[in-house]
Amino acid sequence: MLLITSQNGKVGIEAAMQVLKGGGSAMDAVEAGIRLVEANPDDHSVGYGGYPNLLGEVELDAAIMDGSDLTSGAVGALKGYPYPISVARKVLEKLPHVFLVGEGAARFAAEMGFERRDLLTEPARETWEKRLREDLPPDVLAHLAEQPDLWRYVEIATDPERAKGTTNFIAQDARGNLAVGVSTSGWAWKYPGRIGDSPIVGAGLYADNRYGAAACTGTGEMAIRAATAHSVVFYMKMGLSITEAGQRAMADLNDLGGRYLSGMNFIAVDRAGNHVGFSSRTDATYLYFTDAMDAPAEAPRLCVPLRECWEKNLSAD
Ligand code: ASP
Repeated sequence: MLLITSQNGKVGIEAAMQVLKGGGSAMDAVEAGIRLVEANPDDHSVGYGGYPNLLGEVELDAAIMDGSDLTSGAVGALKGYPYPISVARKVLEKLPHVFLVGEGAARFAAEMGFERRDLLTEPARETWEKRLREDLPPDVLAHLAEQPDLWRYVEIATDPERAKGTTNFIAQDARGNLAVGVSTSGWAWKYPGRIGDSPIVGAGLYADNRYGAAACTGTGEMAIRAATAHSVVFYMKMGLSITEAGQRAMADLNDLGGRYLSGMNFIAVDRAGNHVGFSSRTDATYLYFTDAMDAPAEAPRLCVPLRECWEKNLSAD
């Protein structure tokens, strides 16, 4: 039995292992672990306490995928519900659909009996307000929601040095089944309705028992364009080792063109339980925990630098 998570999975990885040790499925473990990250108010990139969009609304993205049959559930731009991973799992279980967004996702969450909660915490609101006060002219700020050209101000979100983050959980249970889950509040100060890679099967996550599983954090727009999580698993399907598969997926990201290229990271396991983490940063780590270990351990990610470029001055166009 195995769990691997992004660094911020620390608050949930032990509970997830308890689920596996208690005979729970990989899907149960992934959901249980991610719920604890979503509930952590100090994590401003996931769930309750996440940083809001440009208008100060917290919009959450999450998805879960079962490697035994490739069933998946996802929600995007979900407002007012603190456990998007559980709503995503209900989409998988109850609907013939895979992915609900916005109002439809919120309606479904209500129908499934999930409790509503105001997700914008005071520290997150203060940081949002401070950022906007620093970067926006006072007259724009006073009527932000009514701006006919809100798109011009998304530049404060698209600075790659600014806050973002996501949680990744991959589990392999006693039966050898793989599951993967991803949850995020996306890019801080994003344009309303923006959905990143995290809830997109093939981009932010992928699991197939026959080959392995992968999950991403970082610049979601890049993982969407390169279908990164699926690529890692697909390269394993084509016979590459897990490390070679990761290197090929990073090379694909490095081949992307366009005006907005920044950092990317992923974690992956193969069907034999070998695991790796990749990052375009030098100092990145991930967590792993097997049933033979007393506590989770941290492992360095293999660093593959990616070409970066980030166009500024949207408002000058
Ligand atoms: N991948 C996430 C997104 O694009 C953000 C992140 O992981 O930093 O929404």
